[in-house]
Amino acid sequence: MIGAGIVGASCAYALMRAGVRATVVDRGGVASGTTGAGEGNILVSDKEPGPELELALRSGELWRELDEECGGFEWEPKGGLVVAETPEVLDALTAFAENQRRHPGPAGVVASVVPATSLRDFEPHLADGLAGGVHYPQDAQVQPMLAAARLLKASGARLVRTAVERFLVAGDRVAGVRTGQGDLYADAVVNAAGTWAGSFPQAPLPIRPRKGFILVTQPFAVPPVRHKVYTAAYVTNVASDAEGLETSGVIESTRAGTVLIGASRQRVGYDTAIDYRVLAKLARQAVALFPVLADRQVMRAYAGLRPYSPDHLPVIGPDHRLRNLFHACGHEGAGIGLAPATAEMITAQITGGSPRVDPAPFAPGRFA
Ligand SMILES: Cc1cc2nc3c(=O)[nH]c(=O)nc-3n(C[C@H](O)[C@H](O)[C@H](O)COP(=O)(O)OP(=O)(O)OC[C@H]3O[C@@H](n4cnc5c(N)ncnc54)[C@H](O)[C@@H]3O)c2cc1C
Repeated sequence: MIGAGIVGASCAYALMRAGVRATVVDRGGVASGTTGAGEGNILVSDKEPGPELELALRSGELWRELDEECGGFEWEPKGGLVVAETPEVLDALTAFAENQRRHPGPAGVVASVVPATSLRDFEPHLADGLAGGVHYPQDAQVQPMLAAARLLKASGARLVRTAVERFLVAGDRVAGVRTGQGDLYADAVVNAAGTWAGSFPQAPLPIRPRKGFILVTQPFAVPPVRHKVYTAAYVTNVASDAEGLETSGVIESTRAGTVLIGASRQRVGYDTAIDYRVLAKLARQAVALFPVLADRQVMRAYAGLRPYSPDHLPVIGPDHRLRNLFHACGHEGAGIGLAPATAEMITAQITGGSPRVDPAPFAPGRFA
C-alpha cells in the first residue's frame, strides 16, 4: 500500500478483515498528506445522482459500522443543512434533492425541505433573511487524522516511513515497489498516494491538485453550529472544472468546540502558500451566515491539496497496463467520506469477491 492517508488506512483495515496483511509505505507518516488538511465531512448532500452518490451512500453505512468496531475518531451523525439565500436558489436546491431521492439503489437519500420559518429550529444562530434550506440527516462527520490513525492501527499493518520511487515491474505485472529504504515485494500493490498518485511513471494517471483553505476558530464552550451548514454555491463549486478561485460558505463545529470554516477551490499546482485575501473572503462568508462568529478569533488556517480527477470520480480498481497494481485515489474533496466504500471495493477486487457498488464507472482505464 502506498499512502497512509484515510484511503490507504481504510484499505489496510478492510484487507485485514478479509485476511490479507498489508505493508503501508508513506514518506511522511500517517495523515501527512491531504487527510491532515481535510474537514472530515461524510456527505451525501452534495452528490449528484450517479456512481459517486452510490459510493457515498454505501460509505455512510460503513462509517457507522467502523465507529462500532474501532471508533474513537469523533464520528458524529449530525446531519447537514444546505441553505438558500433566495427563493430561486431554494427552488434549485429542492429540485436537486428531489432528483437525489429518485436515485435508484440499495439505500436512498433522505432529504427534507426546511422553510425559512423553521431554519432556526435547526440552527438557532443562523443569519436573518435566508429563504430556507434542505436538511440531510445522513450527512455525518469524523476527525480525519484520528480516523486514519485508528484504522491503520486496528489493521495491524506494518508502516514503513519512506518514499516510493517506482514500481518493480516483472513482465506485465508489478512485483513490488522500490523505496528509499530498499525494495519491497508484494502480491499486489495499492496506489493510495492521493494527490501524488498520478506521478508514478510506469502507470501515470491524470490526478491534479485542487487547493483549499480551512480556518479554525478559537473554541466555543457551546459550539454555535449544530449541523454541517453550507450554501448552495458549494454544490456548484464541487462539480465545476474551473481553475480560478471559487469560494462558498461551509461551516461546522468540532467536538473540541472549534468551528471549521471553508471552502475554497483553485487549481494552482502544488503551491500551499497562505493567501490572506482568500482567508478574508471565507471569514466574511462565514460571518454572513453565522453573525455570532464575528466576535471569535481565528486560531489557525491551513491549505490542503485535493486529489482532483478530470471527471470528478475517484479512480478505483485494477490498473489497465500492469497486473497486480490497483489504484485507490483521486477522491478530490470527498476522500474522507468515500474511503470505506473505496476500501471495500478494492478489497473485493484483490480477493476475488463481489463489490457491493458497481466498480465500472471508477475504472482507471477510463482515461486511456
Ligand atoms: C480544505 C480541504 C477540505 C476537505 N474537506 C473534506 C471533507 O470534509 N470531507 C471529505 O470527504 N474530504 C475532504 N477533503 C478531501 C480529502 O481530504 C481527500 O480527498 C482525502 O484526504 C484523500 O485521502 P488520500 O488518502 O487519498 O490522500 P492523502 O491523505 O494525501 O494520502 C496520500 C499519502 O500518500 C503519501 N505519498 C504520496 N506519494 C508518495 C510516495 N511516492 N511515496 C510514499 N508515500 C507517498 C503522502 O505522504 C500521503 O500521506 C478536503 C480536502 C481539503 C484540502
